[in-house]
Amino acid sequence: MPEGRGGVPVLILVFGAGIAGLSLARMLRARGRRVLVVAERLGDASRVPIALVNPVRGRREVVLPEGVEALELARTVYAPFSKLHFGLLRWVPEGERERLALRLKEVGLPHEWRREGVFLPTVFWLETGPLLARMAEGLEIAFGRAVAWDGTLHLEDGRRYTPELLVYAGGARGAGLFGLGGRLVAGIELLLEDWVEPALSHRVFLAGNALGGSYLNLEAYGEPPPTQGEVEWLLSGAEALLGRRPKVVSAWRGVRFRLFEPLTAIPGGYALTGFGSTGFLLAPLWAKRLAEAL
Ligand SMILES: Cc1cc2nc3c(=O)[nH]c(=O)nc-3n(C[C@H](O)[C@H](O)[C@H](O)COP(=O)(O)OP(=O)(O)OC[C@H]3O[C@@H](n4cnc5c(N)ncnc54)[C@H](O)[C@@H]3O)c2cc1C
Repeated sequence: MPEGRGGVPVLILVFGAGIAGLSLARMLRARGRRVLVVAERLGDASRVPIALVNPVRGRREVVLPEGVEALELARTVYAPFSKLHFGLLRWVPEGERERLALRLKEVGLPHEWRREGVFLPTVFWLETGPLLARMAEGLEIAFGRAVAWDGTLHLEDGRRYTPELLVYAGGARGAGLFGLGGRLVAGIELLLEDWVEPALSHRVFLAGNALGGSYLNLEAYGEPPPTQGEVEWLLSGAEALLGRRPKVVSAWRGVRFRLFEPLTAIPGGYALTGFGSTGFLLAPLWAKRLAEAL
């Protein structure tokens, strides 16, 4: 154990209890490692009410190269803790079907073509609240706000921890403490009065009682913070899918945090963060890679 900095000695400290920190902490524990998680609360961005776990991304329907592997691992990691709702209909314009069909075949993502587009039976959505709460069960978590890192992590209330290794999984809010750059993109998820059939278009996704953006055209609705324009962007996208405007009862706001690489070395350990819009898809895969390397 490092001596002389006066904090409580800890083997591996995972900073953050969002989907990245919790995935890693559970994997390390399963490998018999002693882990302490330090976090202000369970998740920041990970508290988005409903998350879609989907490797087909964006307006151009790029299929992430490691998306199929990530999807399979996310399913295995989450299934013991949360109900997973499988199956999503992706609307695809006629002109783009051939290109997408080729990609889906190349990466081996199961799919069935339908009149409106492609049905993806292994893509799923989940409610994040119960998932985070149940993934946190049994882990050693010190709740508190970290205010400084100098090889010892200093909490606002005076507690200090000196780890042999620290993994930063603190998302956007704690990144400044570790000198990480990154890009922040604000966004909202609208909560709807009615439950809707899961569907995805070039603009929005519908799942459970949530309406979120699948492609963010910031030029179309104005720069963040979220504006009336973004609400209109989402609602008109939903209307194109449903043939009506769903009734909105509430909205959740959050920030996506993107780094070029989700796993990097930092002084004293690693950063496992910066997953942008795909934390629920990619965090388990990168957490596994790190857990295997430690
Ligand atoms: C509107 C919106 C919709 C989204 N939809 C999806 C989706 O459908 N599918 C998908 O895969 N992804 C989606 N995302 C992205 C996803 O939410 C993120 O990629 C993911 O949640 C990031 O998880 P994380 O564990 O890296 O960080 P976070 O969830 O941000 O967790 C950070 C953790 O660090 C802790 N922390 C931070 N600072 C401190 C500090 N100073 N002291 C102590 N603790 C601290 C926090 O308390 C928290 O526990 C969406 C994001 C937004 C904003």
